[in-house]
Amino acid sequence: MEKTYRLPAQNGVNVVLAVVAVVLGAYIVGNPGDTAALLAFYALALFLGVILTTPIGGADMPVVISLLNAFTGLAVGFEGFVLGNPALIVAGIVVGASGTLLTQLMAKAMNRPIANVIFTPMTGAAAGGGEAVTGTMKETSALDAASMMRFGSKVIVIPGYGMAVAGAQHKVWEMAQLLEEAGVQCVFAIHPVAGRMPGHMNVLLAEAGVPYDKILDLEEINADFPQADVALVIGANDVVNPVARTDKSSPIYGMPILDADRAQNCIVIKRGKGAGYSGIENALFYADNCRMLYGSAQQAIAEIIHHIKTMEEA
Ligand code: NDP
Repeated sequence: MEKTYRLPAQNGVNVVLAVVAVVLGAYIVGNPGDTAALLAFYALALFLGVILTTPIGGADMPVVISLLNAFTGLAVGFEGFVLGNPALIVAGIVVGASGTLLTQLMAKAMNRPIANVIFTPMTGAAAGGGEAVTGTMKETSALDAASMMRFGSKVIVIPGYGMAVAGAQHKVWEMAQLLEEAGVQCVFAIHPVAGRMPGHMNVLLAEAGVPYDKILDLEEINADFPQADVALVIGANDVVNPVARTDKSSPIYGMPILDADRAQNCIVIKRGKGAGYSGIENALFYADNCRMLYGSAQQAIAEIIHHIKTMEEA
């Protein structure tokens, strides 16, 4: 998890700096020749930008980058008005509007208001919260996982941040093709905020050669989970955490999730008992129908592929 820096009374300091910057800006409009005030304004704006951004860490960063990008568009648009340049106005409005829409979509998919992302950063384990999850995680082997999928009729693969970190997308597609050749229907379920940026998983799977008709969005796939023999979760955590549906005290309560817990069986590939971005326990991992396959995604999928191939040869 990325390190973040937070001042005491951070939000108060931000507000004071923003007010001073606006007052200074108004003074400069009335006194355009005052270079010292102009330099002070730039320094203040730069400092405000830095301290506004440094407390925001981890996966909230893409939302902030998108918001700053939208502000850039607005600045260019205003500059167009000042210079009387319609091209700058149009370009600024396009960048500002698309950046604002993207920011809103990301915040909505995380079920968090933009103000919450910026002023109350949720930085990994620091976030915590939610009711304690009880039970035990049950381990499985690559051989059992391979046979459960190879002799099933439908497998839904749920990729997450861990698959991206491991760069396992090519191996995952190789495994899916082997299953398809063996007559098992294999599709990919994509959560809108899986990974660390919008469309993260779509890009990785497309790069690996997965056809678009095998990549399904949350709304398209969620009703299919009860019919799936196996939901294979690869390095995903928060996006399949059922507490988002049930625990009102959880920081991710209300976030739409992929219903992996409703599949007949669920296999989760991850390296250990590490939490996801939100820093909370995942109730799915303790469910009766869930088995954990510990290991890095690359290596675990390579082992599964090996066992599926061995089954084909037998
Ligand atoms: P998470 O961050 O919730 O979980 C990732 C999991 O991957 C971890 O539990 C980790 O467990 C595992 N992992 C890490 N490395 C590997 C590896 N090499 N092999 C196998 N597993 C690995 O990911 P999700 O995709 O489920 O959720 C994304 C989160 O990011 C959400 O909370 C979302 O709100 C947030 N977010 C996403 C944005 C977006 O636009 N996509 C933007 C902003 C925030 P272990 O350490 O045990 O291996």
